[in-house]
Amino acid sequence: ILLATVKGDVHDIGKNIVGVVLQCNGFEVVDLGVMVPTETILERAREEGVDAIGLSGLITPSLDHMVHVATEMERLGFEIPLLIGGATTSTTHTAVKIAPRFSGTVAHVNDASRAVGTLSRLLDPKDRDAYRIELDEAHRVARERFEGKRAATPLVDLDAATANRVALDWDGYRPPTPAHPGVHRIEGWPLAELRERIDWTPFFSAWELAGSYPAILEDPVVGEQARALLADANALLDRIVDEDLLTANAVFGFWPARSIGNAVELVDPDGSVQETIPFLRQQFARKDSARGRQPNRSLADFIAPAGSAAAEHGDWVGGFAVTAGIGLEALTAEFHAAHDDYHAILAQALADRLAEALAERLHQRVRTEFWGYAPEEDLDNDALIAESFRGIRPAPGYPACPDHPAKRTLFRLLDAPAIGMSLTESCAMLPTAAVSGWYFSHPESAYFGVGRIGPDQVAFWAETVGMSVEEAERWLAPNLGYDPAAGTPAKGGA
Ligand code: SAH
Repeated sequence: ILLATVKGDVHDIGKNIVGVVLQCNGFEVVDLGVMVPTETILERAREEGVDAIGLSGLITPSLDHMVHVATEMERLGFEIPLLIGGATTSTTHTAVKIAPRFSGTVAHVNDASRAVGTLSRLLDPKDRDAYRIELDEAHRVARERFEGKRAATPLVDLDAATANRVALDWDGYRPPTPAHPGVHRIEGWPLAELRERIDWTPFFSAWELAGSYPAILEDPVVGEQARALLADANALLDRIVDEDLLTANAVFGFWPARSIGNAVELVDPDGSVQETIPFLRQQFARKDSARGRQPNRSLADFIAPAGSAAAEHGDWVGGFAVTAGIGLEALTAEFHAAHDDYHAILAQALADRLAEALAERLHQRVRTEFWGYAPEEDLDNDALIAESFRGIRPAPGYPACPDHPAKRTLFRLLDAPAIGMSLTESCAMLPTAAVSGWYFSHPESAYFGVGRIGPDQVAFWAETVGMSVEEAERWLAPNLGYDPAAGTPAKGGA
C-alpha cells in the first residue's frame, strides 16, 4: 500500500497511525511522507507495484490535489483502488468530487481502525465487486444529499447579509488599548510550563481513543489503553523537557484597526490604511424567530466600525503564531532510525499538544498582560480549556474564518519566519506543531461557522486579497454555495 500526504500539506500523524496499523495487519506499506506531488505518487506506485494508494490531507487545498491524483490515475490507466483520508476529507467530498474522476474504486476511510477492513475487502477477489457496488451506492446517496442541501440552503446577497451584521453598541463602548502595542517575540518558552497546560482530550482522539480526559482513564473499554498511552507520553515528556529536545517560540502583535463592512483595516498612526483584511460573512438566509432575527455574522463585526465613537477612541485587532515543533524532525528521525514508529508518532502528537498549550498560555498572558484587558482573570486549566474568558483567537482555516490565505497576511504582519515558522504553497504551517490566529477582545466576540457563501462575496474576497475569482473559488471551495463549474448560482442561491 502506498501512503502519501498530498502536495502542499504536512498532515502526518493520522497517516502514520494508519501505516502502523496496516503493517501490524500484514500489509507492506510504502510511506512517501508529506508534501508529495501527484507525479511522484503515481511514479512510485508503478515502480513499487502497489495494490492501493492512500492519500492524506488536512487543509482545504489538499482536496483539490486529491482530485488531481484521481484524474491522473484515470488518464494513466490505473486500476488499483484509491483511499482518501484526513481531517478535511469527507464521504461527501469523496463522492462528489473525487469518485467521478476515476473509474477505479474510491473509498473514504477516516479512521485508522477502519483502514484494515476496507483494504481487506478492496483486495479480496471474492468480495471486491460486491464492495464496489456498496461504495458506488453510498456515493450516489451522498451526492444526492449534497445537491439537495445546496438547493435547500437559500443565500441572501452580500449587501443584505452585511446589513444584517451583528449589532453592537459601538457608541457606548470603549475598546481596550493594548498595554504593549506592536509585535513581540518570545523564544524558548519554558516547556515545563507548557506541559502543565496540555489539553489531553485531543491527544487521545489523535490516537482514536474516544472520551474526555480524565474520565477516559477510567473508561471500562479504553481506560487501560489510555492509561498506558498517558504513561508513555509522560515518560517522553520528561525527556523532552529535561533534555530540551523541542523549542517553543511565539510571536504576537496588536494593530490599530477599524471595520468597514466585511473587512478590517489596519490603520497607521498617520491615518493611512496599511492592510485591508477581508473576513467572510455568513450568507445563508436567516429566519425571523421569537427572539428576533439572527445576524449574518462576520468576525469583522467585532471590530469598531469606521466613524463610530469606539473607532474614534481607537480599536485594535491582534494576531499570533506559535510553534513547539522546532527540533521535532530530529527527534522523530532518532526514533525512525531505531525502527520505533510508535515513539515517533508519540513525539509528533506531544509536539502538537505543546503548541496548543502555548497558544492557550499565550492567549492568557495576552488577556492579562500584553493587551491587558482582563488583568484580574484567574482561571484554572479546566476553565481555560472550556474557554470561559473574554475574547477569542479564531484560527484561519477554521469555521469563522475558513480562508487559509489569511495566514499569509498574519505571517507577514508578524514576521513569523523570524521565529522559524513558514507556510507551504497550500498555507499549511511548518513546523507542523503550530497554531496561528487573530485576537479579538470584544466581550461579545464568539466563534461561529461562515457556512455557504455566494458568488458576490467570492468576488469581493478575491478582489480584496488580489486574486482571480477562479483561484478564490479553489481556496474557498468547501464554502461555495453554488457550483463554480456551472458559472451560475445553484438553485435557490443568491
Ligand atoms: N484546547 C484545544 C485547542 C482549542 S480548540 C487543544 O489543545 O487542541 C479551540 C480553538 O480552535 C479556538 O481557540 C480557535 O483558535 C479555534 N476555533 C474553534 N472554533 C473555531 C471557529 N468556529 N472559527 C475559528 N476558529 C475556531
